[in-house]
Formats: sequence, C-alpha cells, structure tokens
Amino acid sequence: MVKAVVGANWGDEGKGKITDMLAEKADIVVRFQGGANAGHTIVNNYGKFALHTLPSGVFYGHITSVIGNGVALNIPLLVEEIKSLTDRDVPKPKILVSDRCQIVMPYHILFDQYEEERLGGKSFGSTKSGIAPFYSDKYAKIGFQVSELFDEEALREKLERVCETKNVILEHLYHKPALDPKELLATMQQYREMIAPYVGDVSSYLDQAVRDGKTVLLEGQLGTLKDPDHGIYPMVTSSSTLAAYGAIGAGIAPYEIKQIITVCKAYSSAVGAGAFVSEIFGDEADELRRRGGDGGEYGATTGRPRRMGWFDCVASKYGCRLQGTTDVAFTVLDVLGYLDEIPVCVGYEVDGQVTTEFPVPCKLEKAKPVLKNLPGWKCEIRGIRKYEELPENCRKYVEFIEEQIGYPITMVSNGPGREDIIVRESPLRR
Ligand code: GDP
Repeated sequence: MVKAVVGANWGDEGKGKITDMLAEKADIVVRFQGGANAGHTIVNNYGKFALHTLPSGVFYGHITSVIGNGVALNIPLLVEEIKSLTDRDVPKPKILVSDRCQIVMPYHILFDQYEEERLGGKSFGSTKSGIAPFYSDKYAKIGFQVSELFDEEALREKLERVCETKNVILEHLYHKPALDPKELLATMQQYREMIAPYVGDVSSYLDQAVRDGKTVLLEGQLGTLKDPDHGIYPMVTSSSTLAAYGAIGAGIAPYEIKQIITVCKAYSSAVGAGAFVSEIFGDEADELRRRGGDGGEYGATTGRPRRMGWFDCVASKYGCRLQGTTDVAFTVLDVLGYLDEIPVCVGYEVDGQVTTEFPVPCKLEKAKPVLKNLPGWKCEIRGIRKYEELPENCRKYVEFIEEQIGYPITMVSNGPGREDIIVRESPLRR
C-alpha cells in the first residue's frame, strides 16, 4: 500500500509532522523530489529537528528511509544530516539512496549564487542551494547519476566535457574563476566514499516491498503552488511537487498510490516571492508569525521570516484538486485561538469579477482577496483528542473550510507533537 503526504499550498503546511506520525505504522518513507532547499520541522522524543534531505520517519528504528531518483542529492549535506541525528542519540537510520538519483554538483551551488547576483532585484528568491541549476542540467542531459561515481574513467571524461561549457559561461557571463575538472574528480571520489554504503536499486526494492504488503509513504516537499506546471510559475521550485510525480521520482506504478493525504495549514504562509492573494502585513502579520507553527513561522532551512496570510479557500481547493486528494490533514489549528474573528479568503476578485477558480499566473497578479470573517473560539485547544470536544466555533471553522474546498478533512492537528492529532469522520468521505 502506497500513501503520499503532500502540500496544498506554498509548503510549510506541516507535512513533516504528519509523515512522522503516519510513519509509526509504515515500513518505508520515500523522498521523491526536491533537494535540501526546504526543510521539515519535527518534534519528537529526541528533541526538535530540521530535516532537509532525509525523509521524516528516520527517527523510527523500523523505518527504511529512501531517497528516490527524483531528488536533487547533495551528498555532503546528506552525510552531515545523518551525523546530526546520531550525534543526538537517534539510532543510526536505515537509508537507501537510488543509484539513479542525480548529484548536486559544487558548481550548481555556485551558479545559483552567481545568477541571483546577476539578477539583483529581479531574482527569484532562490535559497541558493543549487536546485534550479541542478534540474536544468538534468534535463539538458549533462547531470551526474550516483551510479556514474563508480566508473572513474567515464566520470573523468564527462567532467572534462561539462567543465568546458560551464567555463565559457563562468568567464563570459559571470566573470568568475573557471572550474578545474581534476579538482572536481577528487571531490567526486570523496562523494563516492560518502554515499557508497547507502546506494541501491530503489525501484526494484519498492516493487518488492509493495508485493510483500509493506506500507510505503511518499513524502512531498513544498506544495501544489510551487509546482513548475501547476503553480505560480516562475516563482516555483524546479521539480514537481505533486503526488503523481511520486510514481516517477520513486520509480513505482502510479496505480499503487491509494491514499493521498494533502496537508493544509489553518492559515497561510509562504517563503520567497510570488503571488500570495490572502497575504497580510504589519502588526497583524507579525502577531500571526510570532504565534504560528511551533515557535514562530521562520524557514526551517533558511531561517527567513515567512510571509503570512489568512486561509485561502481558492488556492487550497485548487491545491487539493491537483494533488488528487483523498484526505485533508488540517494543521496548526491551535494557533488561531487568540483571534476574536478569523478572516478567510473565499474568492478572488479579478478585473471586477469574483471567482473561486485559481487563475493562471498572469491573472493571479491582479487578484484581490474576498474575505469572510468567522467567529473565533478564544481558547487553547491543544490536548483535545476528540473532535466533538473542540469548541463549537472551532468545529464551525473546520467545517466551513471543508465545504469551501470540497475535500474531506479527516485529520485535525492541534499541536506540533505526534500525539496532537484528532481523527475525524468527514461527511465528504468518498
Ligand atoms: P513542512 O515543511 O510542511 O513539514 O512544514 P514545516 O515543518 O516547515 O512547518 C510546520 C511547523 O509547524 C513546524 O514547526 C511544526 O513543528 C509545526 N506544526 C505542525 N503541526 C502543528 C500543529 O498542529 N500545531 C502547531 N502549533 N504547530 C504545528
């Protein structure tokens, strides 16, 4: 049985917590796209951790953590991340890295920095971890798969070829020092030593696991609105953030994905530039940012303050649809307990017309939010374990949003810990 845990919005919805929680009853957790540019925050018995490459689930002894072929693999960062866990007494995790996974090369990180410098104020707000140059090279067919590290002659020859073209751009576009293929080869030899213990044939491993009746979780990074096709292009990430891509980025049959749990946060946040229709500013935003998440809404990888906004029904309905949602996990609801009234974005006004359909990027820039105020519940809801025990206005908030987005909210998260979850019967259960 394969399940996917993905985001409906701009990312940071709390996928890490939901995956970590579901991993208790799973066997394998797979990362299938993205790189170390975004992170998940996880709170458990060992403490608080920010994961960047490792799947959420590495904390359980019974889980095998898989890095699928769709991931942008930064080898030194992965090794450092493993060490950061074992240094804090987490048992050494079982890790399998796809031999088809491609490597984030040192020059991808340089090109990311140089390009952001060149663009100045017109930059895409990249995290400068080399992800866009990595995926560009992958599709330009000059990327390096992990398996290539093990054939040194072919590797040497390809590095020379790739450096030739990279050096033209470095010299003439960026006016930066040239790459030395010999130095790169030495780095690749180090990478080989670091990664060798983890490498394997992931797709056949997963195929066997599914045949054996194992439970596999596919863990998405970011959310629908950062998908390069269906998101707010060009302010998107470079690999697909959709559950459907899990089949490709892990190497499994698409029809094996039986459950798609889309995570929606009870309010909105975003990092980086791009349209964010329900965004709020000033004191109102500062207060929500300070109270949000677990210790404030700041990027798990970058520490950047997140942009804040009210829950956006238009974006979330679209986000859930593109994911192919079977279940919505509605998170961070506890944070809203301080508000007398809670605004929710129920429509977009574009060129004088109100719509509930998420527009294409060029129209999205013109959209203004249509807000509806719902009454707050003005109390702490952490610790509550039964849906019926939530305050009435809190239940009304959940039910209103469920009706607006049209997908069943079957889990409500009211705190950062594994046990802070309320399972709910939804009238929309299909
Ligand atoms: P992800 O990338 O989607 O996993 O999201 P992040 O980890 O960046 O952000 C989610 C933040 O919210 C983390 O700090 C979590 O510990 C925290 N969190 C998750 N669920 C809840 C919840 O229900 N309530 C509260 N207060 N915090 C939560």
